[in-house]
Amino acid sequence: MSGAFDPFRPPLVGAATWQAVMAAAGWVCECTGQCGKTHAKTAGRCGIAHGSAHCLAVVPADPTVSLREAVTGADLVALCAGCQTAVKRAATKAAEQATADSTDHLDLFDLTGGEAA
Ligand SMILES: [Zn+2]
Ligand SMILES: [Zn+2]
Repeated sequence: MSGAFDPFRPPLVGAATWQAVMAAAGWVCECTGQCGKTHAKTAGRCGIAHGSAHCLAVVPADPTVSLREAVTGADLVALCAGCQTAVKRAATKAAEQATADSTDHLDLFDLTGGEAA
């Protein structure tokens, strides 16, 4: 994949992956409420478009998945900075809660199916 190089490309994932995810998202934040907001004003989807004012990032749909695992096949989504921060915060909070309740261990490490690269 060659062509225009986006100056806003975050260094998180490869350019080709980033562009594919962004194109699939229509260059608009894909958050549909996972950040905790309902985005009711924009039909349930965040609606912030990628551009000079907002720089969308491509992140794992499941924030508990490491990016290294994510780029090898997990779901990736385009999120604006605000949603990304909120989603991460929610995930961190959930993880902390899970740790606090860890007397009852769930299969937290059995989510990816073991596709070692
Ligand atoms: Zn957003
Ligand atoms: Zn959101």
